[in-house]
Amino acid sequence: MNGERAQEMTNETWVQVREGLLKRVGRNNFVTWIEPLRLMGLDDGVARFEVPTLFFGDWVQRNFADHIRLRLTEAGSPVERLEFAVSNSPRPPLKEVRTAAAPVAKARPAPAEEDLRGAPLDSRFTFDSFVVGKPNELAHAAARRVAEGGPVTFNPLFLYGGVGLGKTHLMHAIAHELQKRQPGARVLYLSAEQFMYRFVQALREREILGFKELFRSVDVLMVDDVQFIAGKDSTQEEFFHTFNALVDQNKQIVISADRAPGEIKDLEERIKSRLQCGLVVDLHPTDYELRLGILQQKADFYREQYRGLVIADGVLEFLAHRITTNVRVLEGALTRLFAFASLVGREITLDLAQDCLADILRASDRKVTIEEIQRKVAEHYNIRLSDMIGPKRLRTIARPRQVAMYLAKHLTPRSLPEIGRRFGGRDHTTIMHGVRKIEELMATDSQLADDLQLLRRLLQA
Ligand code: ADP
Ligand code: MG
Repeated sequence: MNGERAQEMTNETWVQVREGLLKRVGRNNFVTWIEPLRLMGLDDGVARFEVPTLFFGDWVQRNFADHIRLRLTEAGSPVERLEFAVSNSPRPPLKEVRTAAAPVAKARPAPAEEDLRGAPLDSRFTFDSFVVGKPNELAHAAARRVAEGGPVTFNPLFLYGGVGLGKTHLMHAIAHELQKRQPGARVLYLSAEQFMYRFVQALREREILGFKELFRSVDVLMVDDVQFIAGKDSTQEEFFHTFNALVDQNKQIVISADRAPGEIKDLEERIKSRLQCGLVVDLHPTDYELRLGILQQKADFYREQYRGLVIADGVLEFLAHRITTNVRVLEGALTRLFAFASLVGREITLDLAQDCLADILRASDRKVTIEEIQRKVAEHYNIRLSDMIGPKRLRTIARPRQVAMYLAKHLTPRSLPEIGRRFGGRDHTTIMHGVRKIEELMATDSQLADDLQLLRRLLQA
C-alpha cells in the first residue's frame, strides 16, 4: 500500500473513531484532549499520534488510551499501543489555544492572596524550637540566612536528609520568620505533591496561565519533598520552568528532598544540575547530644503543660541513648511518656519509661543490617553469599535472594533503592518485585512461611 493511500485510510478510520470517542469521553474532554490529536500512522498494532506538547501526550496516554485503543480496534484496526510525538510545526500562540479550547473563557483575576496559601504552616516549627547540634548546624545556618531575607546569595537552598531530621521544620521556620520580618513578602510553601496537584488541576480547568503567573509572582518559593516529582515528566517540566523563571528574577527558592539532587532517580539531568547550582546542605543523622537537647527542650514544654509532673534524673539520657532512629520517634516517645505518667499520676522513672515504651525501645534496639540478612539467608538455603548479590537467575538462587530482599524491606529502615544497591546494584523495581513475589508465595507455600518465621527469629534474636 503506498503512503498516501495508507494515510487516507488512517484518516478515515480516525474520523470514525473520533465520533465514537466524543460520546465516550464527553464534549469537554473531547475538545480539549481528542480533537487536537493527529493520527500519523497505524502499523503493527501501534497508533502514532502527533501532539502539541509532551504533557499532552502523557495525559492522553494516562486518561484516554484505553478508550482510543478500544475504538480503533472496533473500527477494524487492532491497536495495542499508542505512541505520541510532539509536533514540530509552529504552534499558535497560547492565547488562541486557550480561547479555542475554552469558548466561555472566564476573565481571570490576578493571582489573589488566597491562591498564595500553600500548605498550612505548623506554628510549632520555628527557629526558636529548633535545637541546633553538630548534625544540623550547617542546614540551620543556611536556613537562617535565607530567613533574613537579604539579597539572594545562593539559589536554591537545597536541604536534604533522612526522614524526621527536621527538613520540614526548617522550611516552616523560614516561612514564619520571613512573614514576621517582611509581612508584605509573598512566601509560598508547599509540598512537591501539592505542586503537582495544582498543576494538574490548572490543566484540567484550563487555568495554566494563571498557574504560571501565580508561581512566577512569589518572592520566595519553598517546595518540600521534591523527590516526589521524580519520574513525573510533565510536572518536572513545569517545575523546571517555574524554577528557572524565579531564579532569573532573583527570587529565593528553597527545596527539600530525602537525598542529594544527584541521587534522585528519574529526575531530569538538567533539573539535577540546576538544583546543584545553589547551596546543597544535608541534615546528618542525629547524635546523642542533639537527641538529648531535643528531649530536654520538649520536656521543658511538657513540664509546663502537665504541671507537677516530675521526671527522674537519667530518663532523658536513657531515651537519647536508646532511641536513635529519628526525631519524630523520639518526640512520640516523650509525648506518650508524659501522657501516661499524668494519667497514672506517677513520677517518670526509668522503670516507668521502660514499661511504657517497651515497643519503641524494642524496635529501636534491633538494628538488623542488610549484610546480616544476606548472610543468614545464604546460610539457611545453603548458597554462597556472593550469589546473593550476583547475577545468577537460577530458581535455587533467585528465590533465596528474594527472601533476603523481603526481609531487608521488613526488618530494616532502608529504602528500596538502598536495598537495591546492596544487592549488587539492582534497580528498586527489582527489589519491589522480589518483595511482592515472596508476599504472594507466603500465602500458599507453608514451607516458605516457616522459613521466613525462622529467619526473622534468628535475625531479631
Ligand atoms: P523531615 O521533614 O526531615 O522528615 P520534620 O521536619 O517533619 O522532618 O521533623 C520531624 C519532627 O521532629 C518534627 O516534629 C520536628 O519538629 C522535630 N525535629 C526535627 N529536628 C528537630 C530539631 N533539631 N529540633 C527540634 N525538633 C526537631
Ligand atoms: Mg518533611
